[in-house]
Amino acid sequence: MPPLRILLLGGTTEARALADRVAGEGPAARAGLAREALDGGAFADGDSGRGVEVVSSLAGRTSAPLLPRGEVRIGGFGGVDGLKRYLHEQRIDALVDATHPFAATMTSHAVAAAEATGLPLLILRRPGWTAQTGDVWHRVESVPAAAALVPSIGERVFLTTGRQSIAAFAELDTCWFLSRSVEAPAPPVPPRLEILLDRGPFTIDGERDLLRRHRVDVLVTKNSGGDTAKLDAARAEAVPVILVDRPPLPKSVPTAPTVEEAIIWLNSLT
Ligand code: NAP
Repeated sequence: MPPLRILLLGGTTEARALADRVAGEGPAARAGLAREALDGGAFADGDSGRGVEVVSSLAGRTSAPLLPRGEVRIGGFGGVDGLKRYLHEQRIDALVDATHPFAATMTSHAVAAAEATGLPLLILRRPGWTAQTGDVWHRVESVPAAAALVPSIGERVFLTTGRQSIAAFAELDTCWFLSRSVEAPAPPVPPRLEILLDRGPFTIDGERDLLRRHRVDVLVTKNSGGDTAKLDAARAEAVPVILVDRPPLPKSVPTAPTVEEAIIWLNSLT
């Protein structure tokens, strides 16, 4: 049997981890990985002897992305039609959408292309954060809604919503912003802005120090899930958080919250 060819829509830690773990592995190795991860939980081997070939896809937003194992392609497909064409030309057997929870356009294109071609699709999406005792969270439904709320909550803002959403805060001249992103944002940006170029993971101590040093009185973040260091630090420093809720997931598509569960899904196809 030829290997199962997977298009893995990436740009996240989970996408890279999945590619690193399954690219080029046979089913026995994947079974071992999943069984280990599930600590003896139910797992069907499905040992058909079929390997997996992964093509990771990145949007090309960062100039020096961390690259996963296996084949990588970079850049948009050209909408749903372009994606359908790519799936056909590249003889793709299945799709895994492991894009960021806020990359809603790419996810909707993956759903539409999978429906049109009949290819199986899994959405790998890490769980969102949930509030803990001591958290002061103001939940909003969009980045513009966060921007509208900011001036009533604080004046010194730590902004971690990503460089592409900074324009929504550009009109806020009564607040000072510390914006952290992997690459510098393009205008329009708020007039009182300090840019911090950095890539996680971050530590709680480091995040607390950052909040204190810059006298931050409100943190703005998307509910991306994953590393909680900045939220733990905000709680410890009594800094309120404006949390942008995720766009809803499409209901018709299976989802996996972890890389291990995505490996089980892949095994079910081989
Ligand atoms: P988006 O708004 O959902 O997508 C816009 C367009 O970018 C898509 O229609 C597609 O272009 C292209 N695209 C997006 N992801 C792609 C991928 N993995 N491979 C090839 N093309 C892709 O996405 P976004 O919010 O701009 O995010 C872009 C990328 O950055 C995603 O891969 C995401 O995982 C990553 N990311 C996003 C965030 C965030 O906060 N949104 C945070 C961290 C990482 P075509 O229509 O031409 O195919």
